[in-house]
Amino acid sequence: MAILEKAPAKINLSLDVLRKRDDGYHDVEMIMTSIDLADRIELEQLEEDRIEISLESRYVPNDERNLAYKAAQLFKKKYGIKKGVHIHIDKSIPVSAGLGGGSADAAGVLRGLNRLWSLEISLDELAELGSTIGADVAFCVYGNTAIARGYGEKIEQLPSPPPCWVVLAKPDIGVSTRTIFGQIDIGKLFHPDTTAILDALKEKNFSKLCSNVGNSLEEITFGLHPEVLRIKEAMVQAGATGVLMSGSGPTVYGLVEQQSKATRIFNGMRGFCEEVYLVRLLG
Ligand code: ATP
Repeated sequence: MAILEKAPAKINLSLDVLRKRDDGYHDVEMIMTSIDLADRIELEQLEEDRIEISLESRYVPNDERNLAYKAAQLFKKKYGIKKGVHIHIDKSIPVSAGLGGGSADAAGVLRGLNRLWSLEISLDELAELGSTIGADVAFCVYGNTAIARGYGEKIEQLPSPPPCWVVLAKPDIGVSTRTIFGQIDIGKLFHPDTTAILDALKEKNFSKLCSNVGNSLEEITFGLHPEVLRIKEAMVQAGATGVLMSGSGPTVYGLVEQQSKATRIFNGMRGFCEEVYLVRLLG
């Protein structure tokens, strides 16, 4: 019997880089929320003790480099499972886009294997395990809306944003998170008003949320890839309100309350950029 898991992408309502640590990582503070753009993961037990991955993607490896493979390997080792698993990933989340697709898949595999092998491990324990694979995996284990601290592994759940639509536009480039973090000059960074976003979520205040979304990494990515800035400008011009680059980019999103307006902006952006999505917030 196959187990199915939905692995939703995330967007950053905020991303603040606080400091560089002695171990080379950066301490961050990020408010993230899940969106209804998801990979589908199918897990099937193999009697032989091995991990197989199948997926159709030019950009994602189907071997031990895949984060879903790493998650299964870690899970099997930690809980001493001697059986194998076939993991099929039906990929819808764009790759290297700032939407946490690889982390979503790793988190989906951890939740799915927990069900496949009936282990009843808590989400807290899965998140702790997942954070050793990548900074966004802990958030993706829970999904919904949360603030992540530390290097991303410390998660605190938050109230969900007011219901709205999300228009996403991704230029035809991939951005490496490592490259962007490598360019950080801490003294020159912009810092978003995280407290104002937390208040907006508590108050379910859409316009306050939109006017405070912010990302420390935008300027760095804009400097390396000016087309990302142009997409942000086009999205603002088209009438979206909370417009921001997600993660280290290059995807830019806009939040819109009314469906008719969201559809208009979505159609407008399609004339400007190849990959455009219109989805709802899940968080
Ligand atoms: P990050 O901020 O972690 O870079 P991202 O959303 O910008 O996240 P991902 O789509 O997660 O980017 O992909 C980043 C890299 O991870 C790519 O080089 C990709 O080949 C690799 N990768 C490994 N496994 C996966 C997976 N299951 N799905 C997507 N990418 C994966």
